Amino acid sequence: MSLTVSPRVVKLTTRTEVDIKRSFPQPALRRIGAWVFLDHFGPTKQVDGMVVARHPHTGLQTVTWPFAGEVEHRDSVGSVATLRAGQLNLMTAGSGISHSEISLVGPSSLHAAQLWLALPESARNVEPFFENHAELPVLDFGSSQAKVFIGSLGSAVSPATIYSPLVGAELQVSGEIELPLDRSFEHGILVVSGEVSVNGTPVAVDDLIYLPVGETATVTGSGVALLLGGEPFREHIVMWWNFIGRSHSEIVAWREAWNAQELQWSDFEDKVGGWIPAPQLPNVTLQARS
Ligand code: MN
Repeated sequence: MSLTVSPRVVKLTTRTEVDIKRSFPQPALRRIGAWVFLDHFGPTKQVDGMVVARHPHTGLQTVTWPFAGEVEHRDSVGSVATLRAGQLNLMTAGSGISHSEISLVGPSSLHAAQLWLALPESARNVEPFFENHAELPVLDFGSSQAKVFIGSLGSAVSPATIYSPLVGAELQVSGEIELPLDRSFEHGILVVSGEVSVNGTPVAVDDLIYLPVGETATVTGSGVALLLGGEPFREHIVMWWNFIGRSHSEIVAWREAWNAQELQWSDFEDKVGGWIPAPQLPNVTLQARS
């Protein structure tokens, strides 16, 4: 059975005028394949913009997919990159990285999705690195297209580095698309704009329809949507703040080292200044969950 989820609105803990729409994790939907986190913000006018000071990540990859606007990314492996619409920005945190983001003020609006992919045990301690891909494969469905920014869909294979079988694609829908889904994947389709139906069910803007393993998808209407999918990710993980680990004690150690600024990857130069301390841990032992 498919399931439709609406996002909850969250405020970033840093100075920002931007409301964040979080599609998952939430009780009704924890993850889709290795996709464990989906935030979507905008479209919004630049005011104060999006300013996120230096903060850490471990055990995951971040995917930033701008629809409009520009964001400057800097990180502790020396990357300085401008994130632009239609380009994939993929940061493999692996054993640990810190980064900051600042939206560049301009005439355009700011509109983007930010996602995390959990790294499997075999890859979660890889050396951190950042990659940007401006050339991405497009599947053509006549009047509609799918730009495959990560993983694969049908014959289109993204050059981005992945560690488990998955897909991420932007769908420009005009008419009807029979998506060539991998039947061993579970999928989700987030409607970003326009009027889009999936298998005959209208899906409101900002809502996400989840399709379990084996489902097909016929997408109709006129608009923009994000397709996410992957092989069910069976590892138990602990996801807390910006860390993904495997145990409570691992999270505690990262939190303390970050807040003491003792990690060798805790510092780099940027225009934002400062850094974000990790919040208090809840008064319970964090449980690994599938
Ligand atoms: Mn981040």
